[in-house]
Amino acid sequence: MSLDSHMEKVLWTQDQIQDRVAQIASQITHDFRAAPHPPIIVGVATGAFLFLADLVRRIHLPISVDLVRAQSYGFATLSNGAPTISLDLKLDVKGKHVVLVEDIVDTGCTLSCLIGHLESKGASSVSVCTFLDKPARRKVDIELVGDGKFYKGFECPDYFVVGYGMDFAELYRNLPYVGVLKPEHYK
Ligand code: 5GP
Ligand code: MG
Ligand code: MG
Repeated sequence: MSLDSHMEKVLWTQDQIQDRVAQIASQITHDFRAAPHPPIIVGVATGAFLFLADLVRRIHLPISVDLVRAQSYGFATLSNGAPTISLDLKLDVKGKHVVLVEDIVDTGCTLSCLIGHLESKGASSVSVCTFLDKPARRKVDIELVGDGKFYKGFECPDYFVVGYGMDFAELYRNLPYVGVLKPEHYK
């Protein structure tokens, strides 16, 4: 039973992903080159872990890296709309530029909650860098802080996707590409 055989279709291949991540990292490097202090890159666990790892290795600035965890999904494919922060930052973001790195923005609830959290901790700007953006299901607008920017890898059609960090029932995060599972595997 091979992992690839679980897929209905592939939306972005490993090569397409790596090319796009390199472009975003160059953009971030360019945008923060003149900042008085380099940004803190904050990955949202667990889904952003591969994107975060690929992205930070291509940002050519002396950045710091931290993690937060926000839970809004259980073992289903629907958000419960009320995320809670279950792992907080280790670093002090007061007066710092923060770039929040997410796997996918769907309803926007998780990201809005995290942006508010970083703002309340005194971040001087909050940017968002999401691998995928799924605007079809947005419920909450993403409001950046200060002169924060919005970076995105790809716009995602309205499918529940897996791979490149993203799971279904905690499986498939290790796929190096992103795709849609065959219906029999969404059970
Ligand atoms: P939101 O709060 O924006 O509705 O959802 C954010 C989180 O839900 C994402 O960070 C991700 O963990 C999960 N999520 C949303 N859409 C998908 C999807 O298509 N596939 C997977 N695997 N997770 C998703
Ligand atoms: Mg996420
Ligand atoms: Mg999940």
